[in-house]
Amino acid sequence: MKIIMLGAPGAGKGTQAKMIAHKYGIPHISTGDIFRTNIKEGTKLGKEAKEYMDQGRLVPDELTVKILLDRVEKEDCKNGYVLDGFPRTIPQAEVLTDALGKVGDKIDYAINVEVPDKNIISRMSGRRACLGCGSTYHLEYNPTKKEGICDSCGSETVLRDDDKAETVKKRLLVYHEQTHPLMIIIRSSLFYTRSTVLWICKMYFRQLPIY
Ligand SMILES: [Zn+2]
Repeated sequence: MKIIMLGAPGAGKGTQAKMIAHKYGIPHISTGDIFRTNIKEGTKLGKEAKEYMDQGRLVPDELTVKILLDRVEKEDCKNGYVLDGFPRTIPQAEVLTDALGKVGDKIDYAINVEVPDKNIISRMSGRRACLGCGSTYHLEYNPTKKEGICDSCGSETVLRDDDKAETVKKRLLVYHEQTHPLMIIIRSSLFYTRSTVLWICKMYFRQLPIY
């Protein structure tokens, strides 16, 4: 079973992906993680990706797909995998579809983790991170014992720039421009014949937010 996860940044895709992976005994493959692994291990693809990153450029979709394919060809993926973080755009979906098609493969399911923007914004703005050890907390769901003080090391906990409402809103805007159209294509593919669609997906889950 090959699954892709869709949903806004901060919607909790990673958490859901891990739960699904655990339930079906298949690996959870996060694009961020495999980039880090390839770079750490100094693989050929990792070195290539690092060159782009060092120059502050985006890694081209073709290279990302190569790194992904390299990962999904491993033995532990023979029964499937949950892909988290890719594709995010229509061109990325096309590159992935083509690459999988060449090896006679395709994605079986697309899961959309749908959470209203306002819930994402309020949830992110409740996050707190420790300046000392990096532990993370949440004012409501996982508070520190003493307000503003890290349980593990006693340092101050702060709201990271990344979690501030303004930053989150900007990321959501990009998501709605780029990823949302991809989701519409995937959703509509349920109602059209194979030859007319970009992506075939057998099932479409609409998941409720989990808090
Ligand atoms: Zn700490």
